[in-house]
Amino acid sequence: MKCPACRTVFSGPVPQCPTCKLSLLRLDAKFGAVPRHTRYLSDRSGRLPLREIKKLRALLRIFEKKFPQSLFSVFVTNGVPSGSISEYAFWLANRTGFSSIEAVAGDNFDLLLGIDVEAGMAALIIGYGLENYLTEDDLQAALAVAENAFRAGDVSRGIRECVECVMNRMREIARASEAHKRVGDLVAAGANNR
Ligand SMILES: [Zn+2]
Repeated sequence: MKCPACRTVFSGPVPQCPTCKLSLLRLDAKFGAVPRHTRYLSDRSGRLPLREIKKLRALLRIFEKKFPQSLFSVFVTNGVPSGSISEYAFWLANRTGFSSIEAVAGDNFDLLLGIDVEAGMAALIIGYGLENYLTEDDLQAALAVAENAFRAGDVSRGIRECVECVMNRMREIARASEAHKRVGDLVAAGANNR
């Protein structure tokens, strides 16, 4: 996992970032009470039309159906008070109960996409379990795909493109590990026949 403030990479849960001393308590002091949020998608900016919200929730439900261990949540906000969207999304992900900087949560496969419509910026946070599958490059690629839409203020298109990009990548990874497993089974079968 990576520090959302200084980008230092640390391999396991830590009480605070060894480089910049960022901790959840510091972020609590910065951001205050956890905002109201709903399953799949929360729009605190009020910029998303209702029909777009419905479509995006449907897409996120499809995601959950394809990857039952993973919940992909989206949080849209209108400006982050005294912080960046990556810090805010990181804090939200921790405080709404999935990934944790402090505790081991190795079986967590959830994702949170945070978008600051005011700044036209987004951040994608993943649970520890997913870090074994999705790389930092995958996350950057998924954000890059949506960047133009976010900059142009087309938030719903950006969200859709980002979710679809992650979905495609996870499908590829699932297929590759299936193929890997099949090769492994063949090798094992070959060894047994000898
Ligand atoms: Zn740091």
